[in-house]
Amino acid sequence: TNYDKIAYSFDDLKLKPEILRGIFAYGYEHPSAIQQRAILPIIEGRDVLAQAQSGTGKTATFTIAALQNIDEKKKETQALIMAPTRELALQIQKVVLAIGLHLNVSVHASIGGKAVSEDIEALKQGAQIVVGTPGRVYDMIERGFFRTEGVKMFIMDEADEMLSSGFKEQIYNVFKFLPKEVQVVLLSATMPQDVLEVTSTFMRNPIRILVKKDELTLEGIKQYFVDVDAEQYKFDCLCDLYDAISVTQAVIFCNTRRKVEELTQKLTENNFTVSAIHADLTQEERDTIMTEFRTGSSRILISTDLLARGIDVQQVSLVINYDLPNNKENYIHRIGRGGRFGRKGVAINLLTKDDIPAMREIEKFYSTQVVELPANIRELFD
Ligand code: ADP
Ligand code: MG
Repeated sequence: TNYDKIAYSFDDLKLKPEILRGIFAYGYEHPSAIQQRAILPIIEGRDVLAQAQSGTGKTATFTIAALQNIDEKKKETQALIMAPTRELALQIQKVVLAIGLHLNVSVHASIGGKAVSEDIEALKQGAQIVVGTPGRVYDMIERGFFRTEGVKMFIMDEADEMLSSGFKEQIYNVFKFLPKEVQVVLLSATMPQDVLEVTSTFMRNPIRILVKKDELTLEGIKQYFVDVDAEQYKFDCLCDLYDAISVTQAVIFCNTRRKVEELTQKLTENNFTVSAIHADLTQEERDTIMTEFRTGSSRILISTDLLARGIDVQQVSLVINYDLPNNKENYIHRIGRGGRFGRKGVAINLLTKDDIPAMREIEKFYSTQVVELPANIRELFD
């Protein structure tokens, strides 16, 4: 597809003046590369598949376009934005509200773990933009509370995740309820070939903006490994790193909820201050933990892949893979929690003997380098 219009400034986008005010008030001066290329075709109603590196502003890309295309006078849902986790949906809602501050647009988050009655009420009032997670959104549609006749835009953030195993079915179910002519916009930092192929079954002549896999890792994120030899030495290694990591904000990833719990407990027993999040907590607990982390009142957060994608906390400059992730995509997403919008970041992988081939594989796949962690790690954060 040929589409060569590029908007070098936000003024070039010919936005409603209220949106432009919202953008500048939010602190953005110039559009990022993906914003320069993807906002216009979305506003023009094209189906768009937008891939761009972590932290380069995909949220504002679809947010600005969605706000531009909302008819403020129509009190029906016109845009549906889907995300794989509740935390991400809530974060997106905040961005839409902030950039849309001077518009009269209602934005509702329809997510699991929140009272169904609140959902029903907000949808009855006519939420013009709904940001949601698949299960709850489908439930609301199926029960007739979420009327989809007026939906013009279907936006999927972290689209490759949404279109893979766990969510796929629900996404298709939601899709069936949307008007036939609905515009489809997909975004992600990663777009594996098999997912790319399925997108062609429900996108019409899409504009595809893609990134080669060897351009996905960010210059600003330095990647290191520590060879811990065996699982039982990971904990001591992490304790040794604690002094250095507590100078910044960090996310430590484990592969299971149980491991997150165990590690948190062990660190706490050893007088380290950490918090933890995973999907077995109540939504209230999850919200509190995210607020504490976003405000900086907690600085080290241990998580499952729940936070691997999309979560934007600008102060995070360190990601530790206590466990190496199970797939190559999530490696890119996890380390991308640091180094947001061109900031510097450090990623440290704790590797057992068994992990070394997988680490090499990741290096090769993304044509990147993961080097041994130097002894003077404090200097990494200067
Ligand atoms: P992505 O979804 O591509 O990973 P986000 O949308 O989460 O990235 O944006 C990453 C960070 O960059 C956020 O803190 C966001 O506010 C900021 N950002 C996005 N666009 C701009 C811009 N044009 N100017 C300055 N900061 C921006
Ligand atoms: Mg994102």
